Amino acid sequence: MTRTPLIAGNWKMNGTPMLVKDMILGLAQKYDALPEKPFEMLICPPFTLIGLASEFAKNTGIVIGGQNCSALSNGAHTGDISALMLKEARAKYVILGHSERRTDHGETNALIKAKAEQALKDGLKVIICVGETEVQKDAGETLKVVSKQVSESLPSDTKADDVVIAYEPVWAIGTGRTPTGAEVEEVHAFIRKQLAEMIGLDEAGGLRILYGGSVKPSNAKELLHIPNVDGALVGGASLKLDDFWGIAQAYL
Ligand code: PEP
Repeated sequence: MTRTPLIAGNWKMNGTPMLVKDMILGLAQKYDALPEKPFEMLICPPFTLIGLASEFAKNTGIVIGGQNCSALSNGAHTGDISALMLKEARAKYVILGHSERRTDHGETNALIKAKAEQALKDGLKVIICVGETEVQKDAGETLKVVSKQVSESLPSDTKADDVVIAYEPVWAIGTGRTPTGAEVEEVHAFIRKQLAEMIGLDEAGGLRILYGGSVKPSNAKELLHIPNVDGALVGGASLKLDDFWGIAQAYL
C-alpha cells in the first residue's frame, strides 16, 4: 500500500492571526503550484486560530488540524473542546497524546485512546504521539515504552486511512538533538511490525508513521528518507515559512 507522506506543523501555544495568514497563504502559493503533490501539508494552530486558518486554507491544498480534543462528546466540561467542534471549525486532523499533554496534563494511554475513538467517531483523522524520555532511552527501554504506548493508545478500530502515528523521542523535542538514522529506523520498523500484529499486514502497511523531534531543513532529507518514515511532525520549525517549506523540500 502506498503511503503519502505527511508534513504536519504543531504550533503549540504560539501564533497570531497575522502568522496564520502569512503562513497559509505563503505555503499554499508554493504547494498549490506543484504539478504533483508528493506529500500532504498540515498546520495545527491553537484552538482560537483554527477557524481563521480554515478560512485561509479554503480552496488551497493546505489542511488544518487541532492539537487536542476531549474524550467526551459535549456537556459540562469547562475549558474543553470537543472533536465535533474541531470538525465544525473545518479541522481534518487532531494531534493526540503529544508528550507535552502527557507530561503537563497527566494524559494516560487510556485517555488518549478514548480521545482518539471520539475523534474518529466525529470524522477527524488522528495523529497519536509516542516516544520515550531520555531516562527511558538511557535505560535501554525505548522499544518497550513505545510498544506499550502503541498498544494502549491506538483506537480499537485503527485503520490506515484515518490514524497516523508520530514517533517523537521526548528528549529530541525542541532540543536540537535527534536520534541517529539507525535508531529512527529501528523504532519505525518495530512500530510497523507491531502494527501488523495488531491490525494486520495490509492496514499496517498503509499506516503512516511520522518522525518528530528537532526536524529542520538541514536534517529533513536524511530523516525523512529513512525506511518506514512517512513524514514529520514539526514544532518550532513550523512557525517559519521558509523552514517549514524547507523541510517539505525533502520530498521534492
Ligand atoms: C513537537 O513538538 O512535536 C516537536 C517535534 O517539536 P520540535 O520540532 O520543535 O522539536
